[in-house]
Amino acid sequence: MKIHEYQAKELFQKYGVPIPRGKVALTVEEAKAAAEELGTLPVVIKAQIHAGGRGKGGGVKLAQTADEVTSVADSILGMTLVTHQTGPEGRLVRKVLVEEGLEIEKELYLSLLPDRATATIVLMASEAGGMDIEEVAAATPEKIVKVHVNPLLGLQPFMTRKLAYGLRLEADLVKQFIPMVNALYRLCMDYDASLVEINPLVITKDRRILALDAKINFDDNALFRHKDILGYRDLDEEDPLEVEASKYNLNYIKMDGNIGNMVNGAGLAMATMDIIKLAGAEPANFLDVGGGASAEMVENGFRIILSDPNVKGVLINIFGGILRCDVLAQGVVEATKKVNVKVPVVIRMEGTNVEQGREILYKSGLNLIVAKDLSDAAEKVAAIAKA
Ligand code: ADP
Ligand code: MG
Repeated sequence: MKIHEYQAKELFQKYGVPIPRGKVALTVEEAKAAAEELGTLPVVIKAQIHAGGRGKGGGVKLAQTADEVTSVADSILGMTLVTHQTGPEGRLVRKVLVEEGLEIEKELYLSLLPDRATATIVLMASEAGGMDIEEVAAATPEKIVKVHVNPLLGLQPFMTRKLAYGLRLEADLVKQFIPMVNALYRLCMDYDASLVEINPLVITKDRRILALDAKINFDDNALFRHKDILGYRDLDEEDPLEVEASKYNLNYIKMDGNIGNMVNGAGLAMATMDIIKLAGAEPANFLDVGGGASAEMVENGFRIILSDPNVKGVLINIFGGILRCDVLAQGVVEATKKVNVKVPVVIRMEGTNVEQGREILYKSGLNLIVAKDLSDAAEKVAAIAKA
């Protein structure tokens, strides 16, 4: 789960991580009131969307006067903000964060995330803040300092010092930095965060260190342990089909291609997406209906795939284990009748009762293309993609 900057900053504040003073606003009036309450100028008005690169896209602007607060808030609220992370369609801005404008001396980078390869939490810091960290990593990797924390041992003092010295902080700043990193590590562990990123972490002219930007992603599989942050979920920022799929416990991720696919088991789903690509087509989604999927889940999955207007064909690839092939076939036939399918559907089934399953599909009289095996399915899908 992703959350907004202003929400991440709320959590930062709880943990004692210094942030600029600020307030979220949904309307121009609220933005004006927020600026008055802050009682300082300039203020910075920041679009709240679940994507970075807002500054470059025109979603972060300085307002020097009260009139500018009104005009800037008015221009950002309701805008469709396009950044390198939103895709060309952009995101509608529904909220802004009105924040005291700080005098920045230097912009740094700091992040924490689980590193799967080493099964540790990796902390990364860089003097090259405010820039795309991927670019820094590619062009000047020596500018990134890393420490790996064994989660059973916890963050050790020598590690935070290594980060501080890597950032070439002076003594007065090291004193502020170290408790801040400890707090961020606690936050990351307490909430099962999959990413905590501050870009930029700033040193101000009056020599304070603050999190100017804040990004936290959470591991969805651990959300049941953190009911207190569920209220942070913003459905407006999520793909409507993904929201719909999550209601039925379907693992669905929308993608850019035109071949919809429905598979049971994540590994088989990945393999299926591979064969779609191998056949020269592009998958329209990832969809794992789960190993023990019911006919009802198959129907819901099918309906969700077909509500994507890009879908020009569907590949159903199911291994009948817990879900028998005849039950699946019956589910597909019923779903096909109910949802009024207008695109070709290729089905590859294997496993328990596969013969009965194929029989049901053949006899249904519906436009269902039964594939013999995976490569046959791939060829049939390729033909659809070409047509
Ligand atoms: P994004 O990463 O989405 O572009 P940021 O929050 O990092 O958004 O803001 C972009 C830039 O705007 C920052 O690098 C910083 O230079 C400036 N900025 C953001 N907030 C403030 C603030 N409160 N005071 C001064 N400058 C700010
Ligand atoms: Mg940023």
